[in-house]
Amino acid sequence: MKTIGLIGGMSWESSAVYYKLINQKVRELLGSTHSAKSLMYSVEFKEIEQLQHAGNWEKLTEIMIDAAQKVEKGGADLLVICTNTMHKMAAEMAEKISIPILHIVDATAEKIKEADLKKIGLLGTNFTMTHDFYKGKLEKDHGFEVIVPNEKDRQIIHKIIYQELTLGKIKESSRKKYQAIIEKLQNEGAEGVILGCTEIPLLIKQKDSPIPVFDTTKIHAEKAVELALDIQ
Ligand code: GLU
Repeated sequence: MKTIGLIGGMSWESSAVYYKLINQKVRELLGSTHSAKSLMYSVEFKEIEQLQHAGNWEKLTEIMIDAAQKVEKGGADLLVICTNTMHKMAAEMAEKISIPILHIVDATAEKIKEADLKKIGLLGTNFTMTHDFYKGKLEKDHGFEVIVPNEKDRQIIHKIIYQELTLGKIKESSRKKYQAIIEKLQNEGAEGVILGCTEIPLLIKQKDSPIPVFDTTKIHAEKAVELALDIQ
């Protein structure tokens, strides 16, 4: 069994879910008292969040490279970045370490292809919904047509992530707002929707959506286990 390295803390609400899902998957596959070999380096989210909103991606890249190197030194065989947004600097991180990064977009794209969907909605932080590293990768590397909510709806999604979900606040009123936005995406032709922020699955489950949802936290965590156990 390989050792899964994780960069967590963005936020820890979702990192805790990663830890649980990874171990649950190992138990499901191997049974008995089997559990995952893993190690996590967890950052201070306030610092990260402030730098994101200040647009200081250079400093964030330094922090993420440092975190990745710490995880590698700790003995990990592969790296899982437990946030969609911070995949923005995945390429720069990959250059500075020798273990592979399991990219959350690649893992998610695999599931969307299995479901045979072409036109897909994307929810996440405003960075994820608008910067090229995520939407662009889905389009260019994987050939999907990606639609994102309008500016006003993106602000609603973004605000709920940073002011509620990353703080562990799950509100029915926010669930309704997300549902209304998912319905709009469906009306625009989305055949499914990517929950492209690792906290969104705390609020939105499959039963809350009329179209298939792609839970990036679960998909990413379970793919890491498959790689660690060499199951393809
Ligand atoms: N966990 C979130 C994500 O998947 C947002 C937190 C962050 O900014 O990293 O994008």
